Amino acid sequence: MISFVGAGPGDVELITVKGQRRLKEADVIIFAGSLVSDEHLKVAKDGCEFHNSAKMHLDQVLDVMRKANNEGKKLVRLHTGDPTIYGAIQEQMDALEREGIEYELIPGVSSFTAAATAIKREFTLPDVSQTVILTRIEGKTPVPEEENLVSLAKHKASMAIFLSVQDIDRVMQKLIEGYGNPDTPVAVVYRASWSDQEIVTGTLSTIAEKVKAAGIRKQAQILVGDFINADYSLSKLYDRTFSTEYRKGEK
Ligand code: SAH
Repeated sequence: MISFVGAGPGDVELITVKGQRRLKEADVIIFAGSLVSDEHLKVAKDGCEFHNSAKMHLDQVLDVMRKANNEGKKLVRLHTGDPTIYGAIQEQMDALEREGIEYELIPGVSSFTAAATAIKREFTLPDVSQTVILTRIEGKTPVPEEENLVSLAKHKASMAIFLSVQDIDRVMQKLIEGYGNPDTPVAVVYRASWSDQEIVTGTLSTIAEKVKAAGIRKQAQILVGDFINADYSLSKLYDRTFSTEYRKGEK
């Protein structure tokens, strides 16, 4: 059996119970190099075989999977955060599917929620934003033109921008154009939940210099939107006068 497992954002305690159980039982683990903490590998049983996917191409990864499957071994493919977001798992799953190799997928805590957790903010505030946009700027990997940052920013929704901090100037230019307000708050969270986590806060117009001064060039989330410091209405769900399926509101 092959299990794609989300390792979570960094902190080893943020893997699911199920994901960690699969790691403990694994005969073979393919892990995503510097993105996944070595601590996760310590729970593996004696004799477990390790492969660092940072040094492998797709065919090599698939070869390890095929071999483990033929030998009836349990293999874990350990991905950072949640595997369904920028995990490059579709091509692996489709190849396995074509060959009739059984696999399962176990979700993980994504870095975008870990980053909001780090700054102790909620993405979805009533009257501020009820939408979270997860995106990235185009780089070597293209992004469909309809999803360019300028047009996404026009929604003024909460945003979590992956894979883009190395291009912070260009990201901010596009967001200023889209949001139309250079004072919109931004928080850049480097290595959320790791022991060397760093948080830099500012606005669309000030953050780029601060991020560069802090030397942050990778492994960071760029969180954008008024959810970071807006005034907001209290929730309906916990309003004293609001009735729900479980509770009658006071008059
Ligand atoms: N599947 C992962 C994302 C992989 S893409 C997830 O769900 O989080 C890699 C990008 O994720 C990085 O460039 C960075 O933008 C973000 N990232 C991953 N781990 C992070 C962390 N601990 N803190 C902040 N950003 C992180």
